[in-house]
Amino acid sequence: MRTTHGISRRAFMMDLGKGTFAVAVLGLTTMACSSDDPSPAATTAGGGSGGGSSTPPSSETTSAVTTSPVTTSPVGDAAVSWERVNLGFVSAYVLARRGEATIVDTGVSGSEDAIAASLGALDLGWDDVSHVIVTHLHDDHQGSLPAVLNLAGDAAAYAGAADIPAISSPRPLNAVGDGDTVFGLQIIDTPGHTPGHIAVFDPAGGGLLLAGDALNGADGGVIGANPNFTSDMVAADESIGKLAALTFDTVVFGHGEPVETTASQQVAELAATL
Ligand SMILES: [Zn+2]
Repeated sequence: MRTTHGISRRAFMMDLGKGTFAVAVLGLTTMACSSDDPSPAATTAGGGSGGGSSTPPSSETTSAVTTSPVTTSPVGDAAVSWERVNLGFVSAYVLARRGEATIVDTGVSGSEDAIAASLGALDLGWDDVSHVIVTHLHDDHQGSLPAVLNLAGDAAAYAGAADIPAISSPRPLNAVGDGDTVFGLQIIDTPGHTPGHIAVFDPAGGGLLLAGDALNGADGGVIGANPNFTSDMVAADESIGKLAALTFDTVVFGHGEPVETTASQQVAELAATL
């Protein structure tokens, strides 16, 4: 069940990181966003070497937080192609551009085969994965991060600073937020669902927003964060107002069906009701 979405329109307006790459998203089917309490298993490891050493799964470490602006590959003028990895009740995404891939969210533990299938659908493999971005600490979004990073040995990983201590990772996570660009994608701080939640935005083409759980898809449209699993609804609503200022045709979610037309208008209409 995959759908490759080629985005061919050129980006205009918004000069925030025009990028060219492909993202695949994976979806999972298990309880998502139900872990509001950071796992105590996560420990803070100093910024060690970024790769190389293999760490036993039982002693995964979380990465040190970096504070300098993150800017990876220069952004091109082509939008990413994306694949949704529909895992059931949750989705992850694989984005591709110019033979490189970025994975946004990793689904629950055991989702790596589904992610690999989405990479394959984009004619890419683990060696082509340059970046892995986790939108927030919930298990249905970061559960397969250790497996994914072990398979994608050259990939750098990223998450919001406030969530990093609760995310298990075999190598350091880079803290990213407003002003950072990864794979030509803009990172947007969207706290509320979790303190360190981030959204990912590709301004190229018609615009693509990967909202994580800052928004949800429902009945073909867009609704706000799920209050049952959101730590700060006031902040979550403010983050939706922030996303409403962007222009994009398409928005994809951790939960719910993607909206592929007039998406930013729908988000703006939602924000106006909050
Ligand atoms: Zn969540």
